[in-house]
Amino acid sequence: MVFDTLIIGGGVSGMQCALVLGSALTKEYAKDKKVGIIMHQRSSHLQDALFNNVLGLTPGTLGKDILEEGRDQLEQLYPEVSQIDNEKVIAVLEEEDNYKVVTNKKEYHSKNVVIALNYSKPFDIAGLEQYVERHTRANVMKDRIQLRNFNHLIREGLYVCGTLAGWRSQFAIAAGSGASVATDILTVWNENVPTKVHDKHK
Ligand SMILES: Cc1cc2nc3c(=O)[nH]c(=O)nc-3n(C[C@H](O)[C@H](O)[C@H](O)COP(=O)(O)OP(=O)(O)OC[C@H]3O[C@@H](n4cnc5c(N)ncnc54)[C@H](O)[C@@H]3O)c2cc1C
Repeated sequence: MVFDTLIIGGGVSGMQCALVLGSALTKEYAKDKKVGIIMHQRSSHLQDALFNNVLGLTPGTLGKDILEEGRDQLEQLYPEVSQIDNEKVIAVLEEEDNYKVVTNKKEYHSKNVVIALNYSKPFDIAGLEQYVERHTRANVMKDRIQLRNFNHLIREGLYVCGTLAGWRSQFAIAAGSGASVATDILTVWNENVPTKVHDKHK
């Protein structure tokens, strides 16, 4: 199977991207699209975080709980999104029409790939070395990195979101970045007519 979009990284930006894409899969323009997420969470910045300053999160919420609850939310609401567990990406390689994503266990093929790792070193995914540069919005002393991009797009079909896209490390910014990439992909699927996904209660 070839994915239409494969997200790499199950932290804030990756899970938010997956939720927005998942919520669109009933739309006519997205109904046959295959979406997956490599749900690696071990090195998420959420692991040690405590949140008091995020709109919509109850003060005192632990990042490690968001990691679990995010997976459950995605599984319960949008089970069509494939969650790939216990794998770590080691290479993202260009193919003629797709990208090949190689993990420590398997290989996947996808038309779009979203890189949702964070801005910490080391960054050792083969095939992406040429895009790695110094983070432009973080403290220089912390030696953070980003992937060169223009509005999250690295090259056709290859996106980056979250802190690795060059954003500062705040939950809301990372989540917004993941949602932004999702709506960019949905817009392409919608024949470039700008789109978004909203639910209404009446
Ligand atoms: C201690 C701490 C406290 C914080 N407190 C606050 C706060 O109070 N308020 C606030 O707004 N923000 C806070 N933050 C910041 C917030 O947690 C981050 O901005 C946010 O997690 C960044 O999201 P991200 O998607 O860029 O990265 P992450 O959430 O770190 O996600 C990156 C994901 O990529 C995965 N990954 C890594 N390597 C691979 C690989 N090779 N293959 C596949 N997946 C991989 C990781 O496991 C991880 O799940 C805090 C951060 C820390 C560390």
